Amino acid sequence: MRGTDESTVAYSQFINQIEAGNVASAKIGSDRIVYILKSEETQEQSKQPKEYTTIPVPGDSDLSGLLREHKVEFSALPPSNSGWIGTLLSWIVPPLIFVGLWGWLMARSQGGAAALTVGKSRARIYAEGNTGATFDDVAGVDEAKAELQEIVDFLQHAAKYTRLGAKIPKGVLLVGPPGTGKTLLAKAIATEAGVPFFSISGSEFIELFVGIGASRVRDLFEQAKRQAPCIVFIDELDALGKSRANAGGIIGGNDEREQTLNQLLAEMDGFDTNAGVILIAATNRPEVLDPALLRPGRFDRQIVVDRPDKIGREAILRVHAKNVKLSEDVALEKLAARTPGFAGADLANLVNEAALMAARKNRNSVTVEDFNEAIERILTGLEKKSRVLNEIEKKTVAYHEVGHAIVGALMPGAGVVEKISIVPRGVAALGYTLQLPEEDRFLTIEDEVRGRIVTLLGGRSAEELIFGKVSTGASDDIQKATDLAERSVTLYGMSHKLGPIAFEKIQQQFLEGLTNPRRAVSPKISEEIDLEVKEIIEGAHHIALNILQKNRDLLEETAKILLEKEILEGEELKEYLKRVQKTPEMESWLLKGQLNSNLLEPTSYNGKEKS
Ligand code: ADP
Ligand code: MG
Ligand code: ZN
Repeated sequence: MRGTDESTVAYSQFINQIEAGNVASAKIGSDRIVYILKSEETQEQSKQPKEYTTIPVPGDSDLSGLLREHKVEFSALPPSNSGWIGTLLSWIVPPLIFVGLWGWLMARSQGGAAALTVGKSRARIYAEGNTGATFDDVAGVDEAKAELQEIVDFLQHAAKYTRLGAKIPKGVLLVGPPGTGKTLLAKAIATEAGVPFFSISGSEFIELFVGIGASRVRDLFEQAKRQAPCIVFIDELDALGKSRANAGGIIGGNDEREQTLNQLLAEMDGFDTNAGVILIAATNRPEVLDPALLRPGRFDRQIVVDRPDKIGREAILRVHAKNVKLSEDVALEKLAARTPGFAGADLANLVNEAALMAARKNRNSVTVEDFNEAIERILTGLEKKSRVLNEIEKKTVAYHEVGHAIVGALMPGAGVVEKISIVPRGVAALGYTLQLPEEDRFLTIEDEVRGRIVTLLGGRSAEELIFGKVSTGASDDIQKATDLAERSVTLYGMSHKLGPIAFEKIQQQFLEGLTNPRRAVSPKISEEIDLEVKEIIEGAHHIALNILQKNRDLLEETAKILLEKEILEGEELKEYLKRVQKTPEMESWLLKGQLNSNLLEPTSYNGKEKS
């Protein structure tokens, strides 16, 4: 035995220790990991620090990333010398593995649709007859499901359609934000349709085909046709089908990719419509796709797979909670209401995080508390108990967060302030104010945009008011507030001076938060935009200060309690926030944004109208 004292711990505990920043160094072996804790390292020099051993879980490939992130010194462990048994095993085990793999390959190839050899290369696209997913596993995207059901029907009863001269669609494109279940849907169709299902992702496609020549693409379609009726699924199509127009630029284009794309286009034109091969592709960036891909006869059907609404979220939670033991107080409907904007993958993650949390606390079932903690964890990141703030920092963070909460309690449309915490969390947050909307919102009304900006500036304003100076902690708030103010002018047309003109081009349909390139504008307009943005920010800042001045006693009182308790939530927080007082300036400033009455009677404006 090496070290003075060795004890074996669970792998999960090891991970927890890394995340808590407690691990000083680790030696990684293929069959065990030996590590030392910081707390033990700093003890007397003469004594050997205590070593802990854990057995790594196979296939955990992010370990080195995690170690690097937490600045743990790590190195490799020499293979353990476990005597004759080890020697014997090393002779016997490899043949066993080989037999296993071989048997598995045999089983696969006997199961009907085998691996498809592409061209003369050894590259394969796997045919997944049974992907293990069914339509029942996909919830909350009913329209998309219905459309895909139709595709399944095409494949199963082709004659029914062709008899009347109808053409079966060749290509279906699933479009939607990440994590909404596009890949899952495609897998479900494979099972439901009961036909061979060839699956490859766009980047694999490039790896396999680009540079080898477009003939391989032809080969792929040849083979697919032989297996018809079948489905060919290309995931992340954008990796392959990027617009040829944009491919140029500084680097000088990508000839190989272009050729492959051309061949794909040609193939799609070439195969007979009713050959029984349906190409399904998925992407979350439809706007970068080459328009030639989208024209009729190619991916002529586009199915939008959007983020679920409240009812959809409830259904998705139900799917994922099926195998989880929920305590009686958990109402999935309420959870769905608390998670607007969550995609299917986020909800799956939420259920799992909550279950992990409950297990960690040795509970018999997953409670509401676990779910709330999991929501917070997803929204704000992990608690970082190791990040210790000094007194001044702590005080600054407390006033900052209470500032957000007080202003947030008054502003329209942002929901209820549920919790204030000064326990550091996630990558950057030293404290946070959790404000959850009460319902799904698809539009933000003008005064809500302005209110949001004021709330964002509430933190910094509290610092100014109390300490007479500001910290660096507000930079993220300022960034967000400025972005929002700029968007309200350039994208939403909310500025009276500039009017409803779009100064930005929308490019990223599903990737929010990316800044959009500005339309070509004259220097004068550009300056006016800047001035408008500045005016909004300055106005909001003034209002935030004004509100906090009026509620200064409450601010001080709440911040002191927060410093003591570190977390304020529930009824207690409600009692404090009930006492927040409005100011006349605030009301008139929020109103100022409303549509110009010379142009339109505000009463005739229907806020629910879709733009
Ligand atoms: P996408 O391909 O759209 O980025 P995925 O299909 O890979 O998303 O979804 C990832 C995971 O999230 C799925 O395996 C599933 O567990 C969960 N998920 C996503 N959307 C849904 C949904 N609509 N219903 C049920 N589970 C979903
Ligand atoms: Mg996907
Ligand atoms: Zn803040």
